[in-house]
Amino acid sequence: MGNQNCIFCKIVAKELPASVVYEDGKCLAFLDISPANKGHVLVIPKQHYATLIEVPDSTLSELVKAAKKVSSAVLKATKAKDFNFVQSNGPVAGQVVMHVHFHIFPRFKGDGLLAGRLNRPALVYEDGEAKEFMKRIREAMKW
Ligand code: 5GP
Ligand code: ZN
Repeated sequence: MGNQNCIFCKIVAKELPASVVYEDGKCLAFLDISPANKGHVLVIPKQHYATLIEVPDSTLSELVKAAKKVSSAVLKATKAKDFNFVQSNGPVAGQVVMHVHFHIFPRFKGDGLLAGRLNRPALVYEDGEAKEFMKRIREAMKW
């Protein structure tokens, strides 16, 4: 199942590990491996679609609703008040993984990011830290 060359399809198929914070029939949400800020989550449809345009409306509405719930959980888990909800389509727009995804990342005053843009190096989780964030977000999701 899925696209054989796609890293996110491999995560859906559990062929690659990920810190999953939410899953339902159509959607999967997991920590970004190189977070803009810690607690950065990607929300994807389980089915492979390259960009937003290809996602059927019914799936898209499920995805956005799941992403909204995840956003609340990320805020609660990271004690942030603000967050970016961003999505890139195609390489010229900065899309690197060609499996459609929403980025949700908490924002903190003076975090050095421009609105919605990774204009400084991503952060690195220390040992065990990703697991801790995963746990906190899951708890906040009540999932
Ligand atoms: P894009 O630039 O396509 O919008 O974002 C792709 C995101 O996927 C990047 O933020 C990158 O850090 C993340 N990413 C790439 N490979 C992996 C992976 O194997 N696991 C996880 N969890 N995130 C990944
Ligand atoms: Zn895929």
